[in-house]
Amino acid sequence: MQYRRMESTGDELSVLGFGAMRLPRKSGRIDEERATRQIRDTIDRGLNYIDTAVPYHMGTSESFVGRVLRDGYRDRVKLATKLPPWLTNTREDMDRILGEQLERLRTDHIDYYLLHALNGENWDKLLQLDVLGFLEGAVADGRVVNAGFSFHGSLSDFKAIVDRWDWKFCQIQYNYLDERMQAGTEGLEYAAAKGLGIIAMEGLRGGVLGKEPHPDVKAIWDEAEVKRSPAEWALRWIWNRPEVHVNLSGMNDEAHIDENFRIADEALPNSLTDAELELVRRVAETYRGLMKSDCTGCRYCLPCPAGVDIPGCLGVLNNKHALKDKSANLVYMFFNSGAFGGPPSVASLCTECGTCLPRCPQSVPIPDVLKTVASEFEGPFFPMKRAFFKQMIRFGRWRAKRGQPDG
Ligand code: SF4
Ligand code: SF4
Repeated sequence: MQYRRMESTGDELSVLGFGAMRLPRKSGRIDEERATRQIRDTIDRGLNYIDTAVPYHMGTSESFVGRVLRDGYRDRVKLATKLPPWLTNTREDMDRILGEQLERLRTDHIDYYLLHALNGENWDKLLQLDVLGFLEGAVADGRVVNAGFSFHGSLSDFKAIVDRWDWKFCQIQYNYLDERMQAGTEGLEYAAAKGLGIIAMEGLRGGVLGKEPHPDVKAIWDEAEVKRSPAEWALRWIWNRPEVHVNLSGMNDEAHIDENFRIADEALPNSLTDAELELVRRVAETYRGLMKSDCTGCRYCLPCPAGVDIPGCLGVLNNKHALKDKSANLVYMFFNSGAFGGPPSVASLCTECGTCLPRCPQSVPIPDVLKTVASEFEGPFFPMKRAFFKQMIRFGRWRAKRGQPDG
């Protein structure tokens, strides 16, 4: 594991951080046994930055991380969590929420405390509530060691926030597809020049950049002299930037963890050649032409009052077009139609109420894109297909039961 020193905090941080937002799941909940094993194993292998937040895993991530970090693991990591602006309506809320977080995380201090998912609007709201006074107080009494913010707004708002206070660090969405979105490369360089540490997130853009690529993209990767997986190209591109201290990865699969560790061992700053950077630029351009929405799967738009699984619906659309995922229709039937149990969460349930729109950090025009999803994945025969699948599943379960030996 390589470490980069964040000058603003004096910490030597592992270049790979563990984001506790996409942990392995079992029966709809965190698979605690497997996720505990994974996180502790990464710490044993040298990772020292763990990131969580109130909304991850429907509010259960912080408590889980608190349990994982027992048995001496807490002292071996820098722990990050965040103040959710959407739950913060008074100055008192800030102290109350931080107090609850310390309790859930079983600690007396947060090493890296962030204002979560800032944009121009929620920043103004927090400023009016005296969030800077809150942070100063929390740092002074030791509940918070380093204060920063994560960001999903416009570049101009990003610069204004950077300039407003003596932040130690910021966390930005950074990957080769989004170089010119949100803070982007210009924001990264701006914050770094002001002395802020940089935590990168969404390096694989919700996993999309690590999957089997579209044939047009694969043709470009195949031109590379050194052959690498799509995930390795994406991660090396991030760590190529010397300004990035930690790249957060929402890991949940042992093979991916191993691959991430190998790359984190090898990827040095400024190590990609000009020809390799040009290759990545061409891949980004090709992907941009293929995607139907900018959804990263962050799930901030949920819950939808009509029950639409927004990231699931948008994900199958992007996978179908950008990744040529032949199983996209089947995945939609499996996970969204309700044929396999649970209520339907299909795109056509959208009532266009607009609740999700201000929550989306990528400004995806969600109801419009859902119309495309409905027309591409549902169609007039969808109810019949769903009924057919339901019967198939019943039959399969009946057969499986009959095949079981008695007792
Ligand atoms: S606009 Fe549609 S998807 Fe968004 S919250 Fe309303 S019903 Fe749900
Ligand atoms: S639609 Fe927006 S908020 Fe919802 S998952 Fe996608 S990027 Fe996140």
